[in-house]
Amino acid sequence: MIPNFLMFCAMLSIVFLVIALFSKMQLLKEAQGKIIRLDRSLEEMDEQGKLIMRTDMELNKTQEALDKKISGLNTLQKLSHSIGTTLEENQIFKTIAAEYLEELGFERCLACLWDELTKQFQIHLNIGYTDPELAKIKTTLQEDKKYYFSLVHNGLTSSSLFNPPDFLSKEKIKLYFAANSFIISCVLPKEGSRGFFFVGTQNMETRITEGDCELVTILANQIGQALDNARLFEKAWKSQQELEVKVEERTRQLSQAFEEVKKLDKRKSDFISSVSHELRTPLTSIKGYASILLTGKLGNIPEEALERLKKINRHSDELVHMVNDLLDISRIESGKVIMKFETLSLKEIMEKINDLFAEQFRAKNITFSYQLAEHCDTLSADRSQIERVFINLIGNAFKFTPENGKISVNVKCLDKNIQIDVTDTGFGIPEDAQEAIFEEFYRVENPINQEVKGTGLGLTLVKHIIEGHHGKIWVKSKIGQGSTFSFTIPTN
Ligand code: ADP
Repeated sequence: MIPNFLMFCAMLSIVFLVIALFSKMQLLKEAQGKIIRLDRSLEEMDEQGKLIMRTDMELNKTQEALDKKISGLNTLQKLSHSIGTTLEENQIFKTIAAEYLEELGFERCLACLWDELTKQFQIHLNIGYTDPELAKIKTTLQEDKKYYFSLVHNGLTSSSLFNPPDFLSKEKIKLYFAANSFIISCVLPKEGSRGFFFVGTQNMETRITEGDCELVTILANQIGQALDNARLFEKAWKSQQELEVKVEERTRQLSQAFEEVKKLDKRKSDFISSVSHELRTPLTSIKGYASILLTGKLGNIPEEALERLKKINRHSDELVHMVNDLLDISRIESGKVIMKFETLSLKEIMEKINDLFAEQFRAKNITFSYQLAEHCDTLSADRSQIERVFINLIGNAFKFTPENGKISVNVKCLDKNIQIDVTDTGFGIPEDAQEAIFEEFYRVENPINQEVKGTGLGLTLVKHIIEGHHGKIWVKSKIGQGSTFSFTIPTN
């Protein structure tokens, strides 16, 4: 009985143990599952960490590239500014300073331009090269002239240099220009000599990016434009200098000619004035004797002689008139006549003129009239001189107006002047003579002037008198319709 019980107990314990073992195994399995999942998450996290690190590195690189680009652009902007504001060809290259290049990552730089005279490339800028190095560069420029020449004349960019198209290898350039990395860009002004711009570095770690090439190309283009501007400016400056010299020379010639003319004019005036003086004395006695003879006090004069005496008397009158006009013109010209300004009544002057010409007007049946605008009937002028102006103008109007014509005087007040128009319905004056009639001795060449007597001095004298009053005179006329002579006299 006891053994059975013991057996039963042992069996029961075994069952319990099996059950406990089974449940433990179950727990172990679950724990294993958890560990696997944890492992996986850890792996995933590790992957993500790596990804974050890679992205961070890439971001850093991009940031670095961006920083480089920004600083390159800054440098380019500084360089562009100094190049762009230079108008002297030689100065353009001097503005490219070593520190700017260092900012771009290069310590060596050359600018070479083709010289048409020597048929060689001339070095206009050298940064970072020693004399022996320069000598070596000059050798390649000479030896491989064709290559560099075709380079600038085909306007090739630095990218084409990385795969040199012909005999010149990139290695040769590196060797001769003593640079481990380099960029060459053409300088292509629209006019004048072309060339190329070289930047390089000996630093083995420098990697040239597309951005670097772009910057250097922009810089080379700017140099080309600056060269164009400088050449244009030089051209403009030179032609301005030439123009100035020409203007100076012409001005000198003109003032010389003007002085000559002034001298001649003075000599002419002096001559006319002295001749007129000399003429006046004998003329006065001729006229005097003719007048005495005409009175008959010295005895009777035969009819034929009387006719001739009358002619002598008339002609000497005309000569005296002419000589007086000449003398007056030269006196006014030389400033010897001082105008005596006074307030004159225009109505009074007009009536006087009317009286003076009344007989002649009647003879030709000419109507004379005058109109004075309201509050415009006085004039500040020299009485005798202004009367001569009217006598000459109305005398001319009378001479050149056929019978039954009209002569009128119209007076109006302007802002600062009084304007007087003398109008006739006469023969008129050709347009091309309207300025010349104011010159001494000028008479229009036409059949009327063959009949009408005159000296060509009347209008010259009138012009001088008006100008002596600080006024102006001009004429408007149409052939066959008549003329209007207008003049102004300041009102103050
Ligand atoms: P003159 O009358 O003595 O010839 P002027 O100097 O007074 O000299 O005039 C110059 C010329 O101008 C005249 O010869 C004439 O041809 C022209 N002229 C002047 N006034 C008139 C006028 N009112 N009508 C037409 N021609 C005129």
